[in-house]
Amino acid sequence: MSTQKNTSSDQISKIKSYRKTPLSSDFLIKGILEGNKTALGQAITLVESTQKKHLDKANKVITACLGQKKRTIRIGITGVPGVGKSTFIESLGKMLTTAGHKVAVLAVDPTSTLSRGSILGDKTRMEELVKDPNAFIRPSPSGTSLGGVARKTRESIILCEAAGYHIILVETVGVGQSETAVHSMVDFFVLLKLAGAGDELQGIKRGIMEMADALVINKADGDNLKRAKKAAVEFTRALHLYPPKENGWTPKVYSCSAIENTGIETIWGMIDQYTKDMQANSFFSKKRSEQNKYWLLQTIDDRLKQNFYQNKKIKEALKLVEKEVITNALSPFAAAEKLLALQQKELK
Ligand code: GDP
Repeated sequence: MSTQKNTSSDQISKIKSYRKTPLSSDFLIKGILEGNKTALGQAITLVESTQKKHLDKANKVITACLGQKKRTIRIGITGVPGVGKSTFIESLGKMLTTAGHKVAVLAVDPTSTLSRGSILGDKTRMEELVKDPNAFIRPSPSGTSLGGVARKTRESIILCEAAGYHIILVETVGVGQSETAVHSMVDFFVLLKLAGAGDELQGIKRGIMEMADALVINKADGDNLKRAKKAAVEFTRALHLYPPKENGWTPKVYSCSAIENTGIETIWGMIDQYTKDMQANSFFSKKRSEQNKYWLLQTIDDRLKQNFYQNKKIKEALKLVEKEVITNALSPFAAAEKLLALQQKELK
């Protein structure tokens, strides 16, 4: 009994020390590698910071975490609001942690710049998983550009993996470009759907269909069960119209009830099979390398734009040339050249 008490007070003082100590990168790296959730949370806050003084520290932590060669799987989950993403993640997450896995849940929600992550910020969601010692849940970073929000989440994945979370679930709203961003940071991409009133096939954005490795019809329960099964058959047929993926994987269609926890194990079995197949044909690491390249170019892109648009002189000049362009006093191309030349001068 007394040993137990000592252990828990030791743990509490350890946690307190993490909270008190200023953010030294070595301290954070050590904490992350020990699997300490507080250190992980603090490191993510550092990565999410827009302050220049935090950038070097964040990069140091990320670089140290990159060296960890742990086997992990990153799964993206998308679908329109209300389809059941949170419920699905809670159900899948609980199943995985019960089986002894460590699961991290992250989100990319570019619409929630003010609420600091409406997706996971709502405390009533994922109630069970939030309390689970084997789960780490983090709301979407805030930010004004999708690129920025997504980059931060991508870096957080690296930190979570270094902290021992080997299954990463990334949730994103099924609107706008956020699916593309999440697709480029995960190994497996799940599109959650609902059985509609016969209009399923028109309702799909072609791009998303091409990105999905699996399509899951949720809410297959109660009165909806039959319709969901029928929709699954229709989707399977529709998917045959798409050309096969380069990696040899044919996207699968399943139905499930996140609320009743049915069909979830089968879906996990399929993801597990995918991982094995892709590791066997080495597409798994190939995809991750390609994603690294994508993020390199994407980050350069973002940074160049940021440097340009946030430069004081450029901002002023842009306002002036805009007026000239609107009144046809200057062509848009000549105006752009003028501003880019100004940037060159600024860089010297
Ligand atoms: P999200 O906006 O995509 O994250 O959706 P939520 O997980 O918040 O779910 C939206 C609503 O659908 C909630 O009221 C859930 O209880 C409900 N829901 C989620 N999954 C299921 C399911 O499998 N069956 C049924 N009947 N309802 C569900």
